[in-house]
This record gives sequence, structure tokens and C-alpha cells, in this order.
Amino acid sequence: MPFPDLAARVAEMRERIAAAVARGGHAQRVTVIAVTKTYGPDAVLSAWESGIADVGENKVQEALSKMGEVSVPVRWHLIGHLQRNKAKAVDRFEMVHSVDSGRLADAVARVGEERGSPIRSLMQVNVAGEETKGGLSPAEADTEGERWLRLRGLRIEGVMTMAPLDADERILRATFGGARKVREHLIALGHPAAELSMGMSHDYEIAVEEGATMVRLGTVLFGARDA
Ligand SMILES: *Cc1c(COP(=O)(O)O)cnc(C)c1O
Repeated sequence: MPFPDLAARVAEMRERIAAAVARGGHAQRVTVIAVTKTYGPDAVLSAWESGIADVGENKVQEALSKMGEVSVPVRWHLIGHLQRNKAKAVDRFEMVHSVDSGRLADAVARVGEERGSPIRSLMQVNVAGEETKGGLSPAEADTEGERWLRLRGLRIEGVMTMAPLDADERILRATFGGARKVREHLIALGHPAAELSMGMSHDYEIAVEEGATMVRLGTVLFGARDA
């Protein structure tokens, strides 16, 4: 068993999520996405055996090769930046969390048009305006959100964001609350934007308090990554 204490970690994490939902008062359901990047297919198998049915990968190539190595029916989420010339691969994922520009939205939508059903996607927003992170600003989210309504190959089911790495609680809440506002705008425009993908190992409890419906957890489940 490559991750001997995973069951205990999952149990504790689920308790923390339930407590955070209660504190936050949003009464949402929270989907846990086990981020298996840099780990082998055994991490996917262990996650499945611990009752986690959703896994996240940030690189297309790594994800595709892992898909070929596991037989458990997990749902694969693409959570990292996607180059437009690799957009075809979105067909292999349950959901793309990282639609971070108008041009990528167009490329992803073309794949959905070709296959005849829309690609389930989230709009990635960069609430804090960090140079090092991808995503649309809240202002761009409004204008692009209106335009994306016309992309029939794309179905925007919510918003994804990442908070600044060592932000204090005030910044975290401002970031997560900002993403929630963008989601409300998208809903008002007519998108089926029920999901809020936010929260990683170090900040997921605050994200859940702020309304996260999907948390993306790597380290807290599998331990520190080498790379
Ligand atoms: C790696 C990664 C995560 C998980 O990070 P941890 O801190 O290990 O929980 C979540 N989201 C994205 C986009 C990532 O790349």
C-alpha cells in the first residue's frame, strides 16, 4: 500500500470540510478532487479505494498516460493551464477547470462542436491580479462571460480560482469571495455556473467557508511532492 495513512487523512479531511460548511453557512455539497500530479497511477487507485471518485491533473500528457494505466472509473479533471494546440485532449476529461482566456475558450469550444456535445468547463479567474497566474480578471469575466454564451461547444458550469500562495486570511477571503461574485455574474448572464472550484491543501477550509463546491487537494492527501 503506497499511501498507508490515506484512509485516515481522507476521514479527517472530510470532517474538516463538514465543519467548514457549517461555519460558512452556504450549505453546499463539496466534491473532493484528489490531485495526483507527480504521483504514479497507484495514487489514483488509492484515492479510489478511499472513496474519492474525482482526480485532478495539471498536465495533459501526464494525465493521458495515467489514464492508460488505471482501470478504476474515476472522473478526470484538468486543472492546469492548457495550450491551445493541445485543446483536442479536453475530450478525455470530465471537466476542464482552467479555461483561462478567450482564445482558449474558442479552441475548447471547437472540440465540443466537433464531438457534438459541449465541453464541461469552468472559467478560471485571477481575482488577486497576480502576474504569475493565469485567468481572467473579474472585468474580463463579465465581457467574456457574455461572449461565451454563444459558444455552443462550451458549457460553463462555474468558476475556478487559486489564491496567492502565502496570503493571510483577509486576502484569502477576498479572493474566494471575489470568485463567488464572478460566479453570480455568470449565473445572471444565463450560464449553468453552479460550481466554485477553489481551495488547495493549505487553504481549503477557508475556501469551503466561502462557498467552494470543489476542492483540489494534493499534499494533504498524498504528502509533499518531490518536484
Ligand atoms: C497542484 C495543484 C493543486 C493541489 O495542490 P496542493 O497544495 O498539493 O493541495 C490544486 N490546484 C491546482 C491547479 C494545482 O496545480
